[in-house]
Amino acid sequence: MSGDAANFDVIIVGGGLAGLPLALALAQGGFQVAVIDVLDPAEDVDPDFDGRVSSIADASLRMLNGLGVAQHLEGQLQPINDIVVSDGRPGETAAPLFLHFDHTEIGDAPLGVMVENRHLRVALRKTLAAADGVTLMAPDRIVSFNVAPSHVSVALGSGDVLESALLVGADGRASQIRQQADIQTVGWSYGQSGIVTTVEHALPHDGVAQEYFLPSGPFAVLPMVGNRSSLVWTEETELADALLGLDDDGFAAECAKRFGPYLGEMKPVGPRWSYPLSLQLARDYVCPRIALVGDAAHGIHPLAGQGLNLGLRDVAALADVLVDAQRVGLDIGALVTLHRYERWRRFDNVSLAIACDGLNRLFSNDVTPLRLLRDMGLGLVNRIGPARRFFMRLAGGGVGDLPRLMKGEPL
Ligand SMILES: Cc1cc2nc3c(=O)[nH]c(=O)nc-3n(C[C@H](O)[C@H](O)[C@H](O)COP(=O)(O)OP(=O)(O)OC[C@H]3O[C@@H](n4cnc5c(N)ncnc54)[C@H](O)[C@@H]3O)c2cc1C
Repeated sequence: MSGDAANFDVIIVGGGLAGLPLALALAQGGFQVAVIDVLDPAEDVDPDFDGRVSSIADASLRMLNGLGVAQHLEGQLQPINDIVVSDGRPGETAAPLFLHFDHTEIGDAPLGVMVENRHLRVALRKTLAAADGVTLMAPDRIVSFNVAPSHVSVALGSGDVLESALLVGADGRASQIRQQADIQTVGWSYGQSGIVTTVEHALPHDGVAQEYFLPSGPFAVLPMVGNRSSLVWTEETELADALLGLDDDGFAAECAKRFGPYLGEMKPVGPRWSYPLSLQLARDYVCPRIALVGDAAHGIHPLAGQGLNLGLRDVAALADVLVDAQRVGLDIGALVTLHRYERWRRFDNVSLAIACDGLNRLFSNDVTPLRLLRDMGLGLVNRIGPARRFFMRLAGGGVGDLPRLMKGEPL
């Protein structure tokens, strides 16, 4: 390594909802970590930056607890007690119920929690500020990086030069690290956008998340703290743009048409956001001295609220692999180490991405035979107790070979 560069064990590019937990986990594992993000930290915690509210699975919450993040989220977590799935059409207020997941069937703990992304970012930053071993460099950007046999060196826009054994791309769907490492992706656009907004309603939601499959795409009503819910409303992009352009009364009327009367009088509050939806899977998660986590490795349809949960499972698995490698004296940036991470995560990520893709195709239409088929399928799962309980455990992130942090164990 060169003398005038700042040395770290791991450099993480992207201080988002996957990058920051990775930094905290690696610091807990005894590594020196640098995090680089293009955004000014004051910018991405602004209430107008990201209107999304994320469902955090039970296993992901265990990890956030273990990292010390959850203590900064007091009063911000809304438990998800039940999930109700139905197939309907806008204006059909009494959509029949096809699938009901009730958390009491598998234990006392809720199926997960809802948290506003902006609160999660603030909590991650607070935890980071108190952690030893993490240096946040933001706003800054990578100008270039060079992979040498024993290390990777990174030149930043600020003029600083950093070196480390491993460079991690946690820089989202348009990952610069993935592109510059020449890692290809497969996938396609859904031609749909996800409209996100918050609504207030007269009646309590009791922690019930509703998923209506409407012909143009899923319409999710997700419980938030108080008498508020977050809408994740999928529409074909052209129609979504038109809906976003409506005045407040017009937008509220379109919301109400899909929302129905079950929570009493409702009204949208605050800004509206729109996210273009696509499937994007990296062909490789690793190459010498480089690893990808989170959306940089896999961007999926949000209908099951699992994108971030997959990213957090990447984080926990990579932390496990790197800590184990260091303990036995292996090079943490060597391909043989990184392949263990890739093998661990690829199947889970790809199978969930394909499942979400299939559900979106099966449900985002009004074709009568398909409607019958899917309603029969959902009805069947609803009647078979073990199948219902398996899907609840899956949604809670408690199925499969879990990394230590997801089991609530220290690294
Ligand atoms: C409508 C919608 C609803 C969703 N709901 C849920 C849900 O309920 N539950 C769930 O689990 N998931 C959900 N998701 C998915 C989830 O939001 C994403 O999977 C998650 O935000 C990905 O986090 P990330 O850190 O990998 O990427 P990002 O959130 O994209 O963060 C990337 C970070 O990298 C930084 N960056 C980018 N480029 C560079 C660069 N060149 N140099 C330095 N820094 C850079 C960015 O500033 C940012 O901070 C939803 C997604 C959508 C669209």
